[in-house]
Amino acid sequence: MRLSLVVPCFNEVEVIERFHEAVSRDLAAIGRPYEIVYVDDGSDDGTLDALVQLADTDPSVRYLSFSRNFGKEAAMLAGLRYAAGDAVVIMDADLQHPPELIARMLALYERGFDQVIARRNRIGDPATRTLIARLYYWLINRWADVELTDGVGDFRLLSRRAVDGLLELGEYNRFSKGLFAWIGFESILFEYDNVKQCGRKSRWTFRRLLEYGLDGLLSFNNRPLRLAIYVGLLMTAIAAGYAVWVIAVAVLHGVEMPGYVTLIAAIIGLGGLQMVMLGVIGEYIGRIYYETKQRPHYLVKQTNLNPADHPATRD
Ligand code: UDP
Ligand code: MG
Repeated sequence: MRLSLVVPCFNEVEVIERFHEAVSRDLAAIGRPYEIVYVDDGSDDGTLDALVQLADTDPSVRYLSFSRNFGKEAAMLAGLRYAAGDAVVIMDADLQHPPELIARMLALYERGFDQVIARRNRIGDPATRTLIARLYYWLINRWADVELTDGVGDFRLLSRRAVDGLLELGEYNRFSKGLFAWIGFESILFEYDNVKQCGRKSRWTFRRLLEYGLDGLLSFNNRPLRLAIYVGLLMTAIAAGYAVWVIAVAVLHGVEMPGYVTLIAAIIGLGGLQMVMLGVIGEYIGRIYYETKQRPHYLVKQTNLNPADHPATRD
């Protein structure tokens, strides 16, 4: 049994060596053959040089470097394509995913689980963020067809067939959390203590979180479009009722001019609603647009891997 580690890195020069040391120590203790696939996601801080150096001294290091920053989703995809192991562990390079948990994951894998998921608790997170996250997961689990769990990220072990399953999902817009849930297989979850982001700032600004959140809601089904139909029907029903009332009043009492407030409120309200729904439709069209272009998820600039060894590397 062979283990692969997939590590997306974007500007991690400060921690990459420490990460490699820590992980190598734990992997050596496990005593299985392994490879570490580092994916440099277009860093501009010398991460690639650090990786080349690591590869020079450690034969278990594979690296591949993108031509620019394509995002963590693309980096994970590339790593999964190149990983040759029977089991693959995806890990952040910034030491927020404790390497000592790999042994525990492996033990569970050997008991037959295809996905071993490490879930971080939210100890130490700002309270508002925790609250928003709770709300979001409540919403998404009622809405989307996949079940997502709060605190579950990309830190997990995947069996070979789970990886192959993921690689079959070729969509351009990759919402990994959802894809992991979509493939299914026997999964097990365990919790670990939150590790604070050190040094470099987290890539999650409020705006990115918001966009990511919308992605999650829109990536899995057309329910928002359905909702638009329902809201439209509801508005039509209300308008019809109101029209009957207005006509009745006009017949009984003649036409009175006031009604300015109602008019303005209706125009503004309906205008806003229409914009939102147009936006929803636009989001889906945008997604179709990107999917139809069929662009590759990333371009590789430099690697010590032989692409011919891995038939799955074609984009
Ligand atoms: N990362 C990446 N490409 C990006 C942003 C991040 O490959 O465009 C990597 C980064 O190097 C790290 C992991 O993804 O290994 C998580 O990133 P970060 O720590 O910024 O996010 P967080 O820990 O808040 O999820
Ligand atoms: Mg981090």
